[in-house]
Amino acid sequence: MESLITRPKGPRLVGNKLNAIKCNTCGHIRYPPRTYCNKCQGTDISSILIGPKGVVATYSTTYKKKPSDKQRIFGVVQLFTEDGKDSFILSGTFDTENFDDVKIGKKIELLPNDKYNMFKILED
Ligand SMILES: [Zn+2]
Repeated sequence: MESLITRPKGPRLVGNKLNAIKCNTCGHIRYPPRTYCNKCQGTDISSILIGPKGVVATYSTTYKKKPSDKQRIFGVVQLFTEDGKDSFILSGTFDTENFDDVKIGKKIELLPNDKYNMFKILED
């Protein structure tokens, strides 16, 4: 188990951006943030905000037992920093019940949500 000492205090999101860290030695991005890099073990880190814009990498849906059940569509997206130089892969749920709304490569936006990673599908 990871020590609590390695968890920096701070919000999960800043607005609708991920509050992550970037290693100044190897460039690895870590989210949720910790006080060291999990690639090179370095402690020379900077905070970095990622998102809210990204693209759909993959997606799937839940099985509906009853027709009245809510269709939940979830998947993995690639979120970019504002300058587009860095990105991060994140899983979450799309804010639609229509499976046809989601396509690989489609643009999304991370929604500000305290508990879950929610993605809004953007029109082309
Ligand atoms: Zn590193």
